[in-house]
Amino acid sequence: MQEVYISRRAALAGAGALIAAATLNLPGLGLPAQAQGQSPNQAPGFYRYKVGDITVTAINDGFGKRPLEGFVRNAELADVKKAMAQAFLPQDALNITFTTLVLQHGDKLTLIDTGNGDSGAPTSGTWMANFRAAGFEPKNVSTVVFSHFHGDHINGFRLKNGTAVFPNAEVMVPAAEWAYWMDDARMSAAPEGMKGAFAGVRRVFSPIAKDVKQFEAGKEILPGLTAIAAPGHTPGHTVFALASGSGKMMIMSDTTNHPALFVRNPDWSAVFDMDGPQAAATRRKLLDMVSTDRMQVAFYHAPFPAVGFIAKDGNGFEMVPVQWSTAI
Ligand SMILES: [Zn+2]
Repeated sequence: MQEVYISRRAALAGAGALIAAATLNLPGLGLPAQAQGQSPNQAPGFYRYKVGDITVTAINDGFGKRPLEGFVRNAELADVKKAMAQAFLPQDALNITFTTLVLQHGDKLTLIDTGNGDSGAPTSGTWMANFRAAGFEPKNVSTVVFSHFHGDHINGFRLKNGTAVFPNAEVMVPAAEWAYWMDDARMSAAPEGMKGAFAGVRRVFSPIAKDVKQFEAGKEILPGLTAIAAPGHTPGHTVFALASGSGKMMIMSDTTNHPALFVRNPDWSAVFDMDGPQAAATRRKLLDMVSTDRMQVAFYHAPFPAVGFIAKDGNGFEMVPVQWSTAI
């Protein structure tokens, strides 16, 4: 005991000296760049894993900060703060992260959603650097599949100056989503606050409208990739079952926003859910299914690398992240 006590005391003294040195900014201690006023970079935000023969690469597009007040439509702010505290997250704002997927199947490269491009929050837009860091080139993308038409999913397809980012890609969109957002009468009838979203969809898709391939839910749209209708978040919001050999994964898109809030409390609706009750019903159904089947899941707005499993927990669920692995 005595020995332990002494060594711990010595260690504490050592730590104290280091803290003192850091406070004084003494030279020669190899302090991180941050201490010298420079912004440090994170490791590139990509993460690879296999689903059967398909290599999936999660690509991070940074985050957007959202005040917590008013974020959940049908819950008291105090309850939302409590859920944040339970997840050891801040009480004032939520960092909403963005993670798209790249599927490699043979020599085909398929993207599921494209991130914010240069149209998002200043803390977003890291997608291209991460995509390149993972060894990919935009010109080699063969297919882009969209889950729905919110800006954080489609704006990466076209820069603000109009440049198409994936010049050789076939574009596939949910037919129900296209029907809703490209309907001119619906756009004119939309409330003022919604008009920007309609205009954003047209900005991205109008130049290629005649080439866009619309798909119906319930069909295998690419080898191993089946579209499943998941309406509520948007009218044509779609999730995808990915299957290859014995590998299976549900690409959950925006079935929930941050899992700490909406996987835990599936009946809560984020302000982005266009039809709250329908989104909640879809969410419960899908979460119940993937938890019962112990199916791997990927979530667009879950903490990076945004892949894990769903466990039942009381009246809600919990997302259990996969263990980071060097083995792909
Ligand atoms: Zn989203």
